[in-house]
Amino acid sequence: MTTSRISPALRTEALEQLLTERGLVDPAVMDKFIANYESNVGPLNGAKVVAKAWTDPEYRKRLLADGTSAIKELGFAGPQGEHIVVVKNTATTHNVVVCTLCSCYPWPVLGLPPSWYKDPAYRARVVREPRAVLAEMGLRLGSDVQIIVRDSSSEVRWLVLPERPAGTEHLSEEELVPLITREALVGVAKVSAP
Ligand code: FE
Repeated sequence: MTTSRISPALRTEALEQLLTERGLVDPAVMDKFIANYESNVGPLNGAKVVAKAWTDPEYRKRLLADGTSAIKELGFAGPQGEHIVVVKNTATTHNVVVCTLCSCYPWPVLGLPPSWYKDPAYRARVVREPRAVLAEMGLRLGSDVQIIVRDSSSEVRWLVLPERPAGTEHLSEEELVPLITREALVGVAKVSAP
């Protein structure tokens, strides 16, 4: 693999230009595709998945057993979503997701990755010192909590099933959805009660 210092944005632009010149892609189609992921597909999908898992024990089982197909039940599927594995956070185990190589991310449930996820500092440091990185991002975990760093790859896209916060027992599935943030679905935050 090359270790070019050229920015990913510039490399992408060059690649798009080359593909367009060769007649392999239509830039109008590509713009439409990107706009769809920027405005229509986002972390709201992931929040709906989690809210259902919190309120439907059978769905939760299916989600943890086969993320891709349980997510597809709700109509969310597509590129970067072929192999989604869902991992649950508990009081004693905390999963956090990264892609150390690039920026692999489960698009159908989270949309496009935020800039901090693509930041080389996050990608390198969260593996070496996850507790410190999470604390810097506002999530302080006790020393009794085991942290598992999940590295994404072409084979696996991770989605975190956060803990349902105490004090939300009376809320419906629909009422839970807005509490669930993108950060909680990547594992750099917890879900807070309203
Ligand atoms: Fe990647």
